[in-house]
Amino acid sequence: MHRVFNFAAGPSALPIEVLKTIHEELFDWKGMGASVLEISHRSKQFTETIEETGELIKELYGINSDYEVLFVQGGGHLQFAMIPLNLQFLGRGAYAVNGVWSAKAFKEASKISQAGIAAQVEKRVPLEEELKTEGAGFLYYCSNETVNGIQYHYVPKSKCVLACDMSSDFLSKPVDVSKYGVIFAGAQKNFGPAGLTVVIVRKDLLGKCGESTPTMLDYQTYAKSLSMFNTPPVFSIYVANLVAKWIKKQGGVEEMYRRSLLKSELLYSAIDQSGGFYYNDVKKEDRSLMNVVFNLKNPELEQEFIESAKKEDLFNVKGHRIVGGMRASIYNAVSVEGTQKLADFMKRFAIEHG
Ligand SMILES: *Cc1c(COP(=O)(O)O)cnc(C)c1O
Repeated sequence: MHRVFNFAAGPSALPIEVLKTIHEELFDWKGMGASVLEISHRSKQFTETIEETGELIKELYGINSDYEVLFVQGGGHLQFAMIPLNLQFLGRGAYAVNGVWSAKAFKEASKISQAGIAAQVEKRVPLEEELKTEGAGFLYYCSNETVNGIQYHYVPKSKCVLACDMSSDFLSKPVDVSKYGVIFAGAQKNFGPAGLTVVIVRKDLLGKCGESTPTMLDYQTYAKSLSMFNTPPVFSIYVANLVAKWIKKQGGVEEMYRRSLLKSELLYSAIDQSGGFYYNDVKKEDRSLMNVVFNLKNPELEQEFIESAKKEDLFNVKGHRIVGGMRASIYNAVSVEGTQKLADFMKRFAIEHG
């Protein structure tokens, strides 16, 4: 079997152990003589799985009983709308905008209610004192800007309820969930296949969006039905369940964080010690541990860089089409070994072409 080192930004690498389990269990899941794709979501076996997945997320983050874990479809983009719909009873949102995803969330929220800007900056995260939340009901931010390679390494203190898009750093480090009102994460970055979005919401925020809110846009619908008001994305939830177990077995979010520090350091060192051959212009303290973006001083070498990397089984290092350049996403399932290989390749390529 030929497997490449996959630095895709999403959908992205899954742990090989998880893929093997899926392969093994596909034809006969839990002794049912059928796959998870073919059975009722109301079956005891699936009900147990969805419950267990929620419990595993709670355990991994140490989430207390004030919170519900919900499984929603529609991706991160639907959350851009569901957050303001469900939180507008608090007042308008104040949006911290510092990259592609927070900008999109702000734009979408503006369609629903009067969203405001808490801060707007580029190539960095806003400083805590820059966040303007006067008169706002909730503060919204994106903990890791996947396209721009910028990550918050602090949790904003605010009198407002905190709402956070953790799509691309979900379960990659310890998080004190009790500081948040709502957290959401599209699974396809760091937690499983596309089609599933995890929402962690404080219970007192549920059921306040009013009768006119469409049923499937109300968090309460999911909280009341074990996220099974309608048919949930069964396969994505099943895989997320396996990923959660894998994270636990590896040593939990603390271990994921330790590896992320190691992996990101390998790549940032390769960039910083290249004598300007590569550069990353994100403020150093705000660099992402998940998505390492960089450019080549000579952009004409970009295509060759990508092709040469491929020849060494280093795949998907091309940056997002909006910003160009390179991007290596080093989510939980990307090994230290693979990341080391990429760092070594970068050093060799710089020497050969510098
Ligand atoms: C990918 C991504 C999104 C969008 O997710 P979809 O599921 O494609 O809608 C939103 N926020 C962040 C931080 C992302 O990385």
